[in-house]
Amino acid sequence: MITRVGNGKSALFWEDRWIQGMRVQDLTPGLYMRVRKKVRAACTVFEAMLNGAWALDIGPDIDITLLSEVFELWERVMEVELLPAVEDSTAWAWEASGIYSARSAYAARFWGMESAPFAEMAWSSKAPRQCRFFAWLAGRNRCWTSDRLARRGLPHQAACPFCDQEPETLNHVLIRCVLARVVWHQVLSALGTPELTPEAGDAVVEWCNACAQRAPSKKEAKDIRPWRL
Ligand SMILES: [Zn+2]
Repeated sequence: MITRVGNGKSALFWEDRWIQGMRVQDLTPGLYMRVRKKVRAACTVFEAMLNGAWALDIGPDIDITLLSEVFELWERVMEVELLPAVEDSTAWAWEASGIYSARSAYAARFWGMESAPFAEMAWSSKAPRQCRFFAWLAGRNRCWTSDRLARRGLPHQAACPFCDQEPETLNHVLIRCVLARVVWHQVLSALGTPELTPEAGDAVVEWCNACAQRAPSKKEAKDIRPWRL
């Protein structure tokens, strides 16, 4: 069910689908995990939005990744205008009318099962949690690269800090930049698949999906010697 926010006095800020049908944990999972369960279960949209009180629920000592989530959530929250005279309400998310139907419930059941090799690879990896989370952010183009900062009128660098030739977009800095491609070539050569080195026109998600399909078998993986890196 999605929540249509009116005065925000019954919708739960941290749990309900009140931000264009999405929950805070869908948009900014790192922030969501920082908030105590008791607070998540009780804090209404009205209470959380009062003088930006939701930011206090997150607590101090946040790293750069979480800071980008703070910006993200801050923008989303700023777009919402509470309507003091209107009660919050809920609606079935899978029909434009907001009314439940068996047909749409059946469709909803299978919607989340769509194959997403990139997301699967990011979350099932044995990499540290921060790396998996970064990969997930990158897959959604949610990293604070210069192009994104510029779109929001925030200070940003004019060009990629590595090559100083191209604008710093996510695709550029991760795989298109000449320096990034040198690094990938070294890594992939050590893994025995130098042919997977990204090309200048590749996009991150499509390239990662292609790499995931070429992942080495368990037997091949045993022969890989990480120290050759
Ligand atoms: Zn570059």
